[in-house]
Amino acid sequence: MRVLLVEDDEMIGHSLKEALSTQGWSVDWVKDGLLAQSAWADGDYACVLLDLGLPKRDGVEVLRHARTRGDTTPVLVLTARDGVDDRVGGLDVGADDYLVKPYEVRELLARMRAVIRRRDGSAHSVIGNANVQLDLTTREVLVQGERAQLSAREFALLHALLERPGAILSREQLENRIYGWGEEVSSNAVDVLIHGMRRKLGPDAIRNVRGLGWRVSGGSATGAGAVA
Ligand code: CA
Repeated sequence: MRVLLVEDDEMIGHSLKEALSTQGWSVDWVKDGLLAQSAWADGDYACVLLDLGLPKRDGVEVLRHARTRGDTTPVLVLTARDGVDDRVGGLDVGADDYLVKPYEVRELLARMRAVIRRRDGSAHSVIGNANVQLDLTTREVLVQGERAQLSAREFALLHALLERPGAILSREQLENRIYGWGEEVSSNAVDVLIHGMRRKLGPDAIRNVRGLGWRVSGGSATGAGAVA
Protein backbone atom coordinates (compact mmCIF):
# COMPACT_ATOMS: atom_id res chain seq x y z
CA MET A 1 0.00 0.00 0.00
CA ARG A 2 1.08 3.52 -0.66
CA VAL A 3 1.37 6.27 1.94
CA LEU A 4 2.13 9.98 1.60
CA LEU A 5 4.50 11.14 4.32
CA VAL A 6 4.55 14.91 4.86
CA GLU A 7 7.36 15.79 7.25
CA ASP A 8 10.00 18.53 7.07
CA ASP A 9 12.21 17.11 9.81
CA GLU A 10 14.94 15.08 8.07
CA MET A 11 15.59 12.73 10.95
CA ILE A 12 11.98 11.95 11.69
CA GLY A 13 11.24 11.60 7.98
CA HIS A 14 14.11 9.21 7.34
CA SER A 15 13.32 6.97 10.28
CA LEU A 16 9.61 6.90 9.49
CA LYS A 17 10.20 6.12 5.84
CA GLU A 18 12.49 3.26 6.79
CA ALA A 19 10.12 1.87 9.41
CA LEU A 20 7.17 1.99 7.04
CA SER A 21 9.10 0.45 4.15
CA THR A 22 10.08 -2.45 6.40
CA GLN A 23 6.38 -3.02 6.97
CA GLY A 24 5.73 -3.28 3.24
CA TRP A 25 4.52 0.28 2.62
CA SER A 26 5.51 2.27 -0.47
CA VAL A 27 6.36 5.68 0.97
CA ASP A 28 6.29 9.00 -0.92
CA TRP A 29 7.99 11.57 1.29
CA VAL A 30 7.60 15.34 0.80
CA LYS A 31 9.03 18.07 3.00
CA ASP A 32 6.87 21.13 2.46
CA GLY A 33 3.21 22.04 2.27
CA LEU A 34 3.10 22.94 -1.43
CA LEU A 35 4.72 19.70 -2.55
CA ALA A 36 2.35 17.85 -0.22
CA GLN A 37 -0.61 19.49 -1.90
CA SER A 38 0.42 18.50 -5.42
CA ALA A 39 1.52 14.98 -4.47
CA TRP A 40 -1.76 14.41 -2.67
CA ALA A 41 -3.79 15.61 -5.63
CA ASP A 42 -1.91 13.27 -8.01
CA GLY A 43 -1.41 10.11 -5.96
CA ASP A 44 -3.74 7.38 -4.82
CA TYR A 45 -2.82 6.95 -1.19
CA ALA A 46 -4.20 4.56 1.40
CA CYS A 47 -3.27 7.07 4.06
CA VAL A 48 -1.58 10.46 4.56
CA LEU A 49 0.75 11.12 7.49
CA LEU A 50 0.75 14.88 7.96
CA ASP A 51 3.00 17.08 10.04
CA LEU A 52 1.34 20.43 10.85
CA GLY A 53 4.32 22.76 11.13
CA LEU A 54 5.59 22.85 7.52
CA PRO A 55 7.47 25.28 5.28
CA LYS A 56 5.56 27.08 2.51
CA ARG A 57 2.11 25.95 3.60
CA ASP A 58 0.81 24.89 6.98
CA GLY A 59 -0.39 21.29 7.35
CA VAL A 60 -3.86 22.47 8.37
CA GLU A 61 -4.13 24.43 5.11
CA VAL A 62 -2.95 21.41 3.09
CA LEU A 63 -5.60 19.27 4.74
CA ARG A 64 -8.32 21.87 4.29
CA HIS A 65 -7.46 22.10 0.59
CA ALA A 66 -7.74 18.31 0.15
CA ARG A 67 -11.04 18.04 1.99
CA THR A 68 -12.48 21.03 0.11
CA ARG A 69 -11.92 19.24 -3.19
CA GLY A 70 -13.73 16.20 -1.78
CA ASP A 71 -10.74 13.98 -1.03
CA THR A 72 -11.54 11.43 1.68
CA THR A 73 -8.11 9.80 2.12
CA PRO A 74 -7.59 8.91 5.80
CA VAL A 75 -5.28 11.41 7.48
CA LEU A 76 -3.20 10.93 10.57
CA VAL A 77 -1.77 14.18 11.89
CA LEU A 78 1.74 13.92 13.33
CA THR A 79 2.64 16.94 15.33
CA ALA A 80 5.03 18.24 17.91
CA ARG A 81 2.38 20.67 18.94
CA ASP A 82 0.58 19.42 21.96
CA GLY A 83 -1.69 22.44 22.21
CA VAL A 84 -5.37 21.57 22.31
CA ASP A 85 -6.11 24.30 19.75
CA ASP A 86 -3.85 22.69 17.13
CA ARG A 87 -5.34 19.26 17.62
CA VAL A 88 -8.90 20.56 17.50
CA GLY A 89 -8.00 22.63 14.44
CA GLY A 90 -6.65 19.56 12.65
CA LEU A 91 -9.65 17.42 13.52
CA ASP A 92 -12.06 20.21 12.55
CA VAL A 93 -10.70 20.43 9.02
CA GLY A 94 -10.92 16.67 8.56
CA ALA A 95 -8.05 14.77 10.17
CA ASP A 96 -9.08 11.25 11.19
CA ASP A 97 -6.73 10.99 14.13
CA TYR A 98 -3.53 12.51 15.45
CA LEU A 99 -0.35 11.51 17.24
CA VAL A 100 1.75 13.87 19.33
CA LYS A 101 5.53 13.49 18.92
CA PRO A 102 7.37 11.59 20.18
CA TYR A 103 5.39 8.45 19.46
CA GLU A 104 6.26 4.81 18.99
CA VAL A 105 6.19 3.42 15.48
CA ARG A 106 4.06 0.51 16.71
CA GLU A 107 1.38 2.95 17.79
CA LEU A 108 1.64 4.86 14.53
CA LEU A 109 1.11 1.66 12.52
CA ALA A 110 -1.86 0.64 14.66
CA ARG A 111 -3.49 4.04 14.20
CA MET A 112 -2.86 3.97 10.46
CA ARG A 113 -4.64 0.62 10.26
CA ALA A 114 -7.50 1.99 12.35
CA VAL A 115 -8.12 5.07 10.18
CA ILE A 116 -7.88 3.00 6.98
CA ARG A 117 -10.37 0.48 8.39
CA ARG A 118 -12.78 3.22 9.35
CA ARG A 119 -12.60 4.62 5.83
CA ASP A 120 -13.25 1.13 4.47
CA GLY A 121 -16.35 1.14 6.67
CA SER A 122 -15.58 -2.09 8.42
CA ALA A 123 -15.39 -2.47 12.17
CA HIS A 124 -13.14 -5.49 11.90
CA SER A 125 -9.86 -5.75 10.07
CA VAL A 126 -10.77 -8.55 7.67
CA ILE A 127 -11.82 -7.77 4.12
CA GLY A 128 -12.48 -10.22 1.33
CA ASN A 129 -14.98 -12.19 -0.67
CA ALA A 130 -16.15 -15.78 -0.67
CA ASN A 131 -12.80 -17.01 -1.97
CA VAL A 132 -10.11 -14.97 -0.25
CA GLN A 133 -9.83 -12.94 2.95
CA LEU A 134 -7.16 -10.48 4.07
CA ASP A 135 -6.56 -9.64 7.69
CA LEU A 136 -5.20 -6.09 7.57
CA THR A 137 -3.89 -6.29 11.12
CA THR A 138 -1.99 -9.58 11.03
CA ARG A 139 -1.48 -9.46 7.23
CA GLU A 140 -2.69 -13.03 7.00
CA VAL A 141 -4.24 -14.25 3.79
CA LEU A 142 -6.78 -17.06 3.66
CA VAL A 143 -7.67 -18.76 0.39
CA GLN A 144 -10.61 -21.13 0.70
CA GLY A 145 -9.81 -21.24 4.39
CA GLU A 146 -6.14 -22.11 3.84
CA ARG A 147 -3.31 -19.76 4.69
CA ALA A 148 -1.36 -18.32 1.75
CA GLN A 149 1.91 -16.36 1.63
CA LEU A 150 1.88 -13.12 -0.34
CA SER A 151 4.66 -10.60 -0.85
CA ALA A 152 4.08 -7.02 0.32
CA ARG A 153 3.27 -5.95 -3.25
CA GLU A 154 0.93 -8.85 -3.84
CA PHE A 155 -0.82 -8.04 -0.58
CA ALA A 156 -1.18 -4.36 -1.58
CA LEU A 157 -2.56 -5.28 -4.99
CA LEU A 158 -5.10 -7.69 -3.53
CA HIS A 159 -6.05 -5.13 -0.89
CA ALA A 160 -6.78 -2.56 -3.63
CA LEU A 161 -9.01 -5.01 -5.51
CA LEU A 162 -10.83 -6.28 -2.44
CA GLU A 163 -11.69 -2.78 -1.26
CA ARG A 164 -14.11 -2.61 -4.16
CA PRO A 165 -15.12 -6.15 -5.10
CA GLY A 166 -16.62 -6.26 -8.57
CA ALA A 167 -15.09 -2.93 -9.62
CA ILE A 168 -12.54 -2.92 -12.45
CA LEU A 169 -9.19 -1.35 -11.57
CA SER A 170 -6.93 -0.27 -14.43
CA ARG A 171 -3.23 -0.98 -14.74
CA GLU A 172 -2.51 2.63 -13.81
CA GLN A 173 -4.73 2.52 -10.74
CA LEU A 174 -3.03 -0.65 -9.52
CA GLU A 175 0.46 0.73 -10.22
CA ASN A 176 -0.43 3.87 -8.29
CA ARG A 177 -1.42 1.81 -5.32
CA ILE A 178 1.65 -0.38 -5.11
CA TYR A 179 4.61 1.64 -6.38
CA GLY A 180 6.06 4.81 -4.91
CA TRP A 181 7.99 7.53 -6.71
CA GLY A 182 11.26 6.70 -8.28
CA GLU A 183 10.52 2.99 -8.35
CA GLU A 184 11.19 1.40 -11.70
CA VAL A 185 7.91 -0.07 -12.91
CA SER A 186 8.24 -2.28 -15.96
CA SER A 187 5.33 -2.18 -18.39
CA ASN A 188 4.26 -5.70 -17.51
CA ALA A 189 4.90 -5.48 -13.74
CA VAL A 190 1.22 -5.82 -12.84
CA ASP A 191 0.77 -8.79 -15.21
CA VAL A 192 3.75 -10.56 -13.66
CA LEU A 193 2.43 -9.95 -10.14
CA ILE A 194 -1.03 -11.19 -11.00
CA HIS A 195 0.34 -14.22 -12.81
CA GLY A 196 2.19 -15.21 -9.65
CA MET A 197 -0.82 -14.48 -7.46
CA ARG A 198 -3.11 -16.71 -9.50
CA ARG A 199 -0.88 -19.65 -8.66
CA LYS A 200 -1.39 -18.90 -4.97
CA LEU A 201 -5.03 -17.80 -5.04
CA GLY A 202 -6.50 -19.93 -7.81
CA PRO A 203 -6.78 -19.21 -11.55
CA ASP A 204 -10.11 -17.37 -11.26
CA ALA A 205 -9.38 -15.30 -8.15
CA ILE A 206 -8.39 -12.22 -10.18
CA ARG A 207 -10.12 -11.78 -13.51
CA ASN A 208 -8.83 -9.80 -16.42
CA VAL A 209 -11.31 -7.57 -18.21
CA ARG A 210 -9.80 -7.15 -21.63
CA GLY A 211 -8.49 -3.66 -22.30
CA LEU A 212 -9.83 -2.30 -19.02
CA GLY A 213 -8.10 -3.93 -16.09
CA TRP A 214 -8.73 -6.48 -13.40
CA ARG A 215 -11.31 -7.24 -10.77
CA VAL A 216 -12.19 -9.71 -8.07
CA SER A 217 -15.67 -11.07 -7.59
CA GLY A 218 -17.99 -9.54 -5.03
CA GLY A 219 -19.89 -11.26 -2.30
CA SER A 220 -19.26 -10.89 1.39
CA ALA A 221 -16.46 -12.66 3.18
CA THR A 222 -17.78 -15.79 4.75
CA GLY A 223 -16.60 -16.05 8.28
CA ALA A 224 -14.99 -12.61 8.16
CA GLY A 225 -13.33 -11.83 11.43
CA ALA A 226 -12.71 -15.49 12.10
CA VAL A 227 -9.02 -15.37 11.27
CA ALA A 228 -7.52 -16.43 14.56
CA1 CA B 1 7.54 20.25 11.17
